[in-house]
Amino acid sequence: DVPDIATPVRTQAIMNQYGINTKKSLGQNFLTDINILKNIVSAGEVKPTDNVIEIGPGIGALTEQLARNAKQVVAFEIDDRLIPVLDHTMAPYDNVKIINQDILSVDLEKTIQEEFDDPSAPLKLVANLPYYITTPILMQVLQSNVQFDAIVVMMQKEVADRLSAEPGTKDYGSLTLAVTYRMNAALAFNVSRTAFVPNPNVDSAIIVLTPREPLTTDPKDEKKLFQLFKVGFAMRRKTLWNNLITAFGKTDEMKERLTVALDAADISPKIRAEKLTLDDFIRLHNALFDAGV
Ligand code: SAM
Repeated sequence: DVPDIATPVRTQAIMNQYGINTKKSLGQNFLTDINILKNIVSAGEVKPTDNVIEIGPGIGALTEQLARNAKQVVAFEIDDRLIPVLDHTMAPYDNVKIINQDILSVDLEKTIQEEFDDPSAPLKLVANLPYYITTPILMQVLQSNVQFDAIVVMMQKEVADRLSAEPGTKDYGSLTLAVTYRMNAALAFNVSRTAFVPNPNVDSAIIVLTPREPLTTDPKDEKKLFQLFKVGFAMRRKTLWNNLITAFGKTDEMKERLTVALDAADISPKIRAEKLTLDDFIRLHNALFDAGV
């Protein structure tokens, strides 16, 4: 039986052995609470039939728990210094592959085809995310063509609140819409800052995303829909109209097209994007598409 990595004593011993000091710039806060790790694995219902992608394995605290429960684990770690550590800590597990790469430069579709023995097995993403890039990572995952059966991610509480925000609230924005477009979001549990070494300056939450029911209407161009989410919230306090003309142009011809599209979608130009639901955004996007915007 291999002892757990995630205890304060063993974590410190591993870091001393390899002369590792954590880098704040890479969001390195290592979990040292075994119960939390086990609860993360349970929240994702990780099973021996599942392929799992992990982002930022660190010294392997979560990776190890995933390896013990999943079919196969592929983990991306950007920090070269941690690769020899992971070679050592993951040696007991023959179903773990560590890749020394920036997750933001990874082609997820290709990874799945190339790295998993059975690419068609159920696929889950489980990670204690590096907080400085939580939003870019979520956007990358949500805009990829990969359908995850579950995404279980730890992030700072403030960002977690944005994932399931209601229209009209201050937390509601392009991230909320990007998530809602693909997934249902649920809070699994909160995690105190004392569960990490070193302690982060924020509290954290585990969010579980699962595939949503089919949309009522599909967007005509997914990429443009995601752009429209961003355009709508470019200047939060401005009207939708102001954000639209800033993004698409102020010529008379463009204004005419925008007016036609807003009219067709039955959306007032004076409204603010924060009042629009996902359905409103899709309707507006399709109308803009038809108007050649
Ligand atoms: N999984 C470990 C745990 O739970 O204790 C470590 C989590 S720590 C919050 C985030 C990890 O992500 C660090 O190991 C860090 O080096 C890694 N990381 C930071 N930026 C990354 C990136 N762009 N791509 C891949 N890994 C990254």
